[in-house]
Amino acid sequence: LFSLSGQTALVTGASGGLGRAQCLALGAAGARVIVSDLDPEAAQQACDHLAEQGVDCVPLELDVTSTHSVNEAFDALDARGDSPDILVNNAGVSLRNSALEATEDEFDLTLTVNLRGTYFTAQRAARTMSRRGGGRIVNISSIGGLAVDGERSSVYDASKAAVVQVTRNMAYEWGRHGIRVNSIAPGYMRTAMTSDLLPSREVEERIVRDHIPLGRVGEPGDLSGAVLFLASQASAYVTGHTLTVDGGWLV
Ligand code: NAD
Repeated sequence: LFSLSGQTALVTGASGGLGRAQCLALGAAGARVIVSDLDPEAAQQACDHLAEQGVDCVPLELDVTSTHSVNEAFDALDARGDSPDILVNNAGVSLRNSALEATEDEFDLTLTVNLRGTYFTAQRAARTMSRRGGGRIVNISSIGGLAVDGERSSVYDASKAAVVQVTRNMAYEWGRHGIRVNSIAPGYMRTAMTSDLLPSREVEERIVRDHIPLGRVGEPGDLSGAVLFLASQASAYVTGHTLTVDGGWLV
């Protein structure tokens, strides 16, 4: 049910904390993994590290904010018979600022990476998937896209709420092409992105006590089961859904 043997998965922003963990989960289930990132050296490094752990992977430079970069990358994959059956739209940025102080540049960059990047990468992937009879797309949102989980995150949260909504729209439009589109909304996971939110053990303990019923911050590997479920046959009749993986923060 969960095997991805014979399938190809492409993960964006794959050299970051959650990206690597998702590549590892997909690879361990048997998928060939295209490890893509804005920074080609980081993609190569992540791929080398994954290969040491037994993952069949290839690095790829891919800037999700450039439709030129996205089209070029997918055209090259199609040409060499490496078209992804699974796309994980994981690339994201988080620039924290208050709603009184947020700048136009912060707004534009956040929406360009998190929403525009997710949208047009999914669109390009879906064009090939529909020609090939189907596929699965997993968009990484956030609990901030579903509820307010703290201060200084209005712009980020707007981008992630939009990801939840386009996931539904894409699922609705592309279901008849055999493409399932779902989303994951992680809570606080320990990566570079949350290092400023968890500056000390004291702050972390307060956050856990006040918000997280399961009693700990998430580790990147905590996303493995969710991504595997949504990428595999195990979720064959699930589409348009957003799965929270937050230790119970939003209950
Ligand atoms: P991270 O900062 O470790 O990784 C982000 C990755 O995205 C980096 O590898 C970066 O190079 C890449 N990236 C940035 N801009 C890009 C672009 N234009 N094109 C391609 N790649 C680009 O962060 P992370 O914690 O691993 O986050 C991964 C995803 O999970 C993000 O979408 C983030 O918003 C989401 N998320 C994270 C948390 C958390 O607690 N860490 C919680 C909720 C959602």
